[in-house]
Amino acid sequence: MSWQPVVGLEIHVQLKTRTKMFCRCPAGFGGGENTQTCPVCLGFPGALPVTNRAAVEWTVKLGLALGCEIAPRAVFARKNYFYPDLPKGYQISQYDLPLCTNGKVLVPTAEGDHEIGIVRAHLEEDAAKTVHVGGRTGRIGGADYSMVDFNRGGTPLVEIVTAPDIHSADDARRFLQLLRQTIVELGISDAEMEKGTLRVDANVSVRPAGSDELRTRTEIKNVNSFAFVAQGIQAEIDRQIAVWEAGGEVEQQTYDFDAAHGKLTARRSKEEAEDYRYFPEPDLVPIEPPAELVERLRAELPELPGARIRRLEGALGFGLATDIVTSGRHALYELLLDDQVDPREVANFLMNEGRELRDVPNPAELRSLLKAKREIPREAFLEGVAASAGSSFSAAAFTRERVTSDAAALEPVIERVLAANEAQVQAYREGKEGLLGFFVGQVMKELGGKADARAVNELVRSRLQS
Ligand code: ZN
Ligand code: MN
Repeated sequence: MSWQPVVGLEIHVQLKTRTKMFCRCPAGFGGGENTQTCPVCLGFPGALPVTNRAAVEWTVKLGLALGCEIAPRAVFARKNYFYPDLPKGYQISQYDLPLCTNGKVLVPTAEGDHEIGIVRAHLEEDAAKTVHVGGRTGRIGGADYSMVDFNRGGTPLVEIVTAPDIHSADDARRFLQLLRQTIVELGISDAEMEKGTLRVDANVSVRPAGSDELRTRTEIKNVNSFAFVAQGIQAEIDRQIAVWEAGGEVEQQTYDFDAAHGKLTARRSKEEAEDYRYFPEPDLVPIEPPAELVERLRAELPELPGARIRRLEGALGFGLATDIVTSGRHALYELLLDDQVDPREVANFLMNEGRELRDVPNPAELRSLLKAKREIPREAFLEGVAASAGSSFSAAAFTRERVTSDAAALEPVIERVLAANEAQVQAYREGKEGLLGFFVGQVMKELGGKADARAVNELVRSRLQS
């Protein structure tokens, strides 16, 4: 029997607002432990929260980018649970009236667009950070003691929940790359999984291909890269198929994925008891975003990454267009485009030799260097790329210095090489024309690479024909 995976994602994004969600403490990294706190984010009795306007506007903007409807009235709710890193005993989140609902994202693939539904995107505050000391894993099991850093407590988070519209580990990865790039381009978060500013949980189930039933799902938590999310989902898909095929039953469970060993480990099911006793937050007024604000934010939306992949696909092909866009290198790509160079060459350069470039202070010079790429040796080209950020760099002067195309300078070297390789010259003249590259290579070597390969090619060919 063949099986169809059914995957839904839950993503938390830490917004890079200057201050926290409900107080004026600075948000973000830096500062010693427990230095960015106040009575509000420490949950002192009587301290009152005030909503961060920028966080609301950014969430609306993200919701619009995800094709969501923006609620005319959204309500904060208390999500009650007890945990040491949650000083109030509840998290302020949104429940039945979230800010953004019912969106969809088109994920470009080589076989057309995949539509992924967005159930909701809501705003909430982050919990503080618990650090487990001792033990090998950094997790609570085996630790000697734990400490809490409240700096992160109260920073704004957007939680995005997708519909179970994802049907492979690879689709999940593609969706996440596109989502991440969208968030980064909106300028609302750095969205780095390694730093925890983007966190992904995946709900996974499988069903017989062709059916539309939804079987028991499991959840994968604690993964810190897109590759590991995809690996974790794949491992769980394989595990569930094996359970069903052996006549067993998949049980509802939460797993951590250990990427180093490719293994899923079940969490204690006690942690799963979910009764959050949600109720509307009495200390905050509902958010009612004015229609003019929503329309202004909609008008400010830039071209979205999915659309850009389709726009660049014609010139670059699907794979390279996706790489350029999801790696965030499209701005450099457009800066370096030149009607005298194949766009694919520019894109390949940015994904390979130029992958370390973060910005290009002298685009005109780097464009000229790219045009000269074939005329100079690879090492010289790389050297030029590194030097091109300097304000006095001139591609023309650099190329001239690295290249000799002057026949008077090249001919004596060519004579020498041919004289030293008489047998190969003979073989070439008897028809082994593939040896041309060998002679050119020898000449380039003699000249330490400082020669125009095309000029050498021409000269060697005509010399051998005479
Ligand atoms: Zn505070
Ligand atoms: Mn959440």
